[in-house]
Amino acid sequence: MQPNEATRALLSRQIIDACLEMGRLGINQGTAGNISSRFQDGMLITPTSTPYGELTEDDIVFVDSRGVPETGCLPSTEWRFHLAIYQHHHDRHAVVHNHAPYATSLAIMNRAIPAVHYMIAAAGGTDIPCAPYATYGTEALSLLVVTALAERKACLLQHHGMVASEVSIAKALWLANEVELLARWYCQLLACGYQPETTPRLPAEEIAVVKAKFNSYGLRS
Ligand SMILES: [Zn+2]
Repeated sequence: MQPNEATRALLSRQIIDACLEMGRLGINQGTAGNISSRFQDGMLITPTSTPYGELTEDDIVFVDSRGVPETGCLPSTEWRFHLAIYQHHHDRHAVVHNHAPYATSLAIMNRAIPAVHYMIAAAGGTDIPCAPYATYGTEALSLLVVTALAERKACLLQHHGMVASEVSIAKALWLANEVELLARWYCQLLACGYQPETTPRLPAEEIAVVKAKFNSYGLRS
């Protein structure tokens, strides 16, 4: 096996394992959602419409930098925004997309998640924005995702779900789960009667302090 083939097999296995873990974490359902990893000049990404439990390494599709998939392979319908994230952020090496219940609930309400907890800093700033709606799989959605992620590692997608991007598959999956937890807390505050405008939140200066701490000490609290 050539080094590139070995790397591809390893990344493909990590993608499948992360897909299965999304199901165990309860942040995705059925064949919704998709995961990719930067590879060579393009990316490896889950195929369209295959149940995660049936995936093998050979099913993971390579898409090159022009958006052309391997002959005879059908990548996830959301390949456009995955590829666009890699092209706009050279420090991102994995992208996780799902329809997690609480994150999607907020996305339906077109609500960004505010700084209700210091862990919001893990996504890169004082909030997790919500990208406006566009039909799934379109170039229009890809542009909206890239705009929402300009200063963030994660965002919600209106009437759709969420996206998290990070330096590795493990970290992207971890971040996606943190976004869902933040969304759950925020949903519970709204259910308790808080209004979006009056929900208690941390000031931007404190989020900057936490972000700097994450950068120097890592994410352990
Ligand atoms: Zn989706």
